[in-house]
Amino acid sequence: MSQSDPNCIFCKIVAGQIPCKKVYEDEEFLAFHDIAPWAPVHFLIIPKQHIISLAHLTSEHEGLMGRLMTLIPKLAAQEGCNPYPEGGFRLVTNTGKEGGQEVHHLHFHVMGGPRPWLKG
Ligand code: AMP
Repeated sequence: MSQSDPNCIFCKIVAGQIPCKKVYEDEEFLAFHDIAPWAPVHFLIIPKQHIISLAHLTSEHEGLMGRLMTLIPKLAAQEGCNPYPEGGFRLVTNTGKEGGQEVHHLHFHVMGGPRPWLKG
């Protein structure tokens, strides 16, 4: 799989061609605020590598996804999500057309903060 798709909006954000409100960056991942937030805290975390969706993961991505999952609670706390169990956060990954995926670069929505939220 190619590392980057020149037509992908999230690859353009990774490349710095489109600006974002950055939450976190390392060699493998980028996290940034969603442009249309549903909740007091709403950011996206993506692998920099262009993986189309959760349906495109293979065994070669197991380590990458493990590192991503352990990073998410740290970033959620850093961004202001209150501690579990009274606080917490929601993790959403829309996959494919029926799953509601609009941007076809794997991304995880992390949402949290006090209710009510705009959606969900
Ligand atoms: P999904 O339906 O899961 O594919 O959601 C894509 C998300 O990306 C939506 O919540 C959008 O608001 C968000 N989004 C689209 N373009 C940008 C952008 N340039 N910067 C930040 N978030 C974006």
